[in-house]
Amino acid sequence: MSEVRDPRWPERVEIYDTTLRDGSQREGISLTVADKLKVAEQLDHLGVDYIEGGWPGANPKDAEFFERAPAELRLERSQLVAFGSTRRAGVKADEDEVLRNLVKAGTPVACIVAKSWDYHVTEALRTTLDEAVVMVSDSVEFLHSAGLEVFVDAEHFFDGYRNNPEFALRVLRAAHEAGASRLVLCDTNGGTLPHDVEQVVAEVRAALPDAGLGAHFHNDTGCAVGNALAAVRQGAVQVQGCINGYGERTGNANLTAIIPNLTLKMGIDTVPRDRLELLFPVSHHIAELVNLTLDPQSPYVGTSAFAHKAGLHTSAIARARDAYEHIEPDAIGNLTRFVVSEMAGRSTVAMRAKDLGLNLSDETVTDVLDQLKTLEHAGYHFEVADASFELLLRTAAGWTQEFFALESFRVIVEKQAGGEVTTEATIKLQTRGERVIATAEGNGPVNALDQALRLAIGQAHPALSGIHLTDYKVRVLDTHKGTGAVTRVLLDSADEERSWSTIGVSENIIEASWQALSDSIVHGLLAAETSEDPPAG
Ligand SMILES: [Zn+2]
Repeated sequence: MSEVRDPRWPERVEIYDTTLRDGSQREGISLTVADKLKVAEQLDHLGVDYIEGGWPGANPKDAEFFERAPAELRLERSQLVAFGSTRRAGVKADEDEVLRNLVKAGTPVACIVAKSWDYHVTEALRTTLDEAVVMVSDSVEFLHSAGLEVFVDAEHFFDGYRNNPEFALRVLRAAHEAGASRLVLCDTNGGTLPHDVEQVVAEVRAALPDAGLGAHFHNDTGCAVGNALAAVRQGAVQVQGCINGYGERTGNANLTAIIPNLTLKMGIDTVPRDRLELLFPVSHHIAELVNLTLDPQSPYVGTSAFAHKAGLHTSAIARARDAYEHIEPDAIGNLTRFVVSEMAGRSTVAMRAKDLGLNLSDETVTDVLDQLKTLEHAGYHFEVADASFELLLRTAAGWTQEFFALESFRVIVEKQAGGEVTTEATIKLQTRGERVIATAEGNGPVNALDQALRLAIGQAHPALSGIHLTDYKVRVLDTHKGTGAVTRVLLDSADEERSWSTIGVSENIIEASWQALSDSIVHGLLAAETSEDPPAG
């Protein structure tokens, strides 16, 4: 991990976030105005320089966002940007609706998109190249004279430059001379590769040495982050992108990778140093707000980004973390995780036991490893069932659960011809020295068993009412023996403070479900009852 900046690179690069405009073009993202305000708050928290709020006047939602933002957003560090386009062909700038809406939005900065590919001017705008250039300078001058700082997004710049470099540069020069402080080279179709980016940005910089260049990339070749870094190497001082790489098609340049790459790897200042550790929480918070599960393999901020599975690694990492991790995960708010599997060695088991405050002898650790191998061969998968693994370790250390001891259960599923399916479960168990029999109905076998168990022990263990099952996944596995399939059940549970996962495996789905359910309830009660005072009497 080096932090030595090449003196030819800029000392600082502005981070311009367009999650609220370009990012929300992603399929599946639909933000309310309240959501947009919350996303902006997170971005300010992280300390990006610019937050593009949307296109005022293009739709009622964006107009409302800019109306509410001044009162409801207390931005500490970020500046809000309104997005729009140059004036239309043949219309005066001060009579152009889009430009007037930009002024009305009341932001300190406006960013306008300009056509820089001649083909789009003649085909989409259906006007002359000369008029297209004047449209840019008129629009920049108008906004500038209204007191706004102006950025110009040169749309399709890389494709345009390849086809007609002279026109593409004319557009940039017009924007620059009219007072635009950033000329943003956009790879709108997303097909450009890093070596082309380096070359084009270098040529633009030679042609316009005084201009402040920015870069806006889409990830259609999987190179958006690399392209942004390439542009910076050639002197771009602003990078536009989205948190978690959200955006249309394959997404925009991913700021959650660009920010740490620039700061930690290239030694270039981006967000304030003391806020870099907010990258992980902000990325996950925004994923929640846009209601998308973050890919665990996301660079830097994924939950698997610093997860280690191999046993050899875990023992070595315990000694020298930097030998196996490209950065210190806490620098960006993530953490090292040791994943339990049969591949993992003694040190993983020993470390997890230590985390739980358990003292396991070498002999016990060996037993646990043997047990893990057998169980994983049978279809258990403890990487995704932290709570079941914890119970296994506690049991190995000599603990036994005293919440209940099952005597038997029976589940009846009844289907009336042409009618409903009903399920009933009866459970017999010992709890607090008493024998209890409880029967309950449910909307399926697992639900009925859960209800019956709660009925049987709920009074003795009031914390049970705060424990909920949140997800239930079933998978049929091929067995190695070829005697038939086994079923693996994964159960997610939660109380007010935490969530946990448990597992059950059996040839019988109800037995597999019972194992997962029983582990879930035991783990939940153990956590709840050890964190509160023991009940009196
Ligand atoms: Zn874009």
